[in-house]
Amino acid sequence: MTAATPIGEFEIIERFFASLGARRGDVVLGVGDDGAILTPRAGCELVVVTDTLIEGRHFPAASPPASVGHRALAVNLSDIAAMGAEPAWALLALTLPRADPAWLAEFARGFGTLAQSAGVALVGGDTTSGPLSMTVTVLGQLPAGTALRRNGARAGDVLFVSGTPGDAARGLQHDIMAQAGTASIAGDAATRVDALRQRFRYPMPRLQLGMGLRGIASACIDVSDGLAADAGKIAAASGCGVSIDVQSLPLSTALLQDAGEAQARDLALCGGDDYELCFAVPAAQLALLAQRLPVAAHPYQRIGVMTAAPGMQLHVAGQRIELPVTGFDHFR
Ligand code: ADP
Ligand code: MG
Repeated sequence: MTAATPIGEFEIIERFFASLGARRGDVVLGVGDDGAILTPRAGCELVVVTDTLIEGRHFPAASPPASVGHRALAVNLSDIAAMGAEPAWALLALTLPRADPAWLAEFARGFGTLAQSAGVALVGGDTTSGPLSMTVTVLGQLPAGTALRRNGARAGDVLFVSGTPGDAARGLQHDIMAQAGTASIAGDAATRVDALRQRFRYPMPRLQLGMGLRGIASACIDVSDGLAADAGKIAAASGCGVSIDVQSLPLSTALLQDAGEAQARDLALCGGDDYELCFAVPAAQLALLAQRLPVAAHPYQRIGVMTAAPGMQLHVAGQRIELPVTGFDHFR
């Protein structure tokens, strides 16, 4: 066997990206021309999001390529979910240090599997060489005027979060420890650690929940920077404050057993990379929420309330902690 022959830019596109994801009748022209031609649904608005992932910054170096492909799309689908939109089309601008067909096949499998399940067609992109990074753009649609925004919350609205925040941040910690060679875990603990690592590597965007929240939530955001920071963004955009009952945070058993209660709460509040939805619902809409989005089908939990006083209050065991509203900032 000789070493695999290196492949060129056009072969990369043809082999891995020419027909990835869902086949959609509204794609008049996909990959292959200077631009894609798409037919938005009549009466709909487009929601457009984009996010960049850089190796070593947004995911550890030498991450499984399928996970990198999945996350590149998932973080964008999560923004689409937070707007309440239905995703339709994606663009992928990919920068690669080398054309490794095995890596590309796995990357495309991770991206394509999620795209397929979310009904998204890859309709174009760009392929360049350089340090590993990718910028994905996703377009979604929704009935005109129904998008969820960050700025609609009012004092008295109830605050919810989906899923079990903190798991992904703990999973990333384990990834980093494993790479540093400081981890030696076996048995049940290893199964838990694997489950947490999967939460970082394969976040599941809450698309059905986001679409279901149209006409119910007064504000919505996806949790990427940490629940406290992102809830704070809803409050700041809405011109109100937020109060979170820390003991009501939905913590997974795996996280509690692996990290202990105190650290589990810290990670749930400040960890990031959850890609869950945090949303506010006016009291008058709570019955509709429970009816349209039963918790058994779409796990979410009440964690606090929007307040008239600005800023953030955390309540822990009867104690009240005032917190400055901060999140991850790439330039600090
Ligand atoms: P141009 O030079 O006209 O910009 P390119 O050679 O960059 O064209 O791309 C050729 C076609 O392949 C275009 O339709 C483009 O959208 C698509 N494409 C390039 N890279 C990717 C990629 N990573 N994923 C999906 N489509 C891609
Ligand atoms: Mg191009």
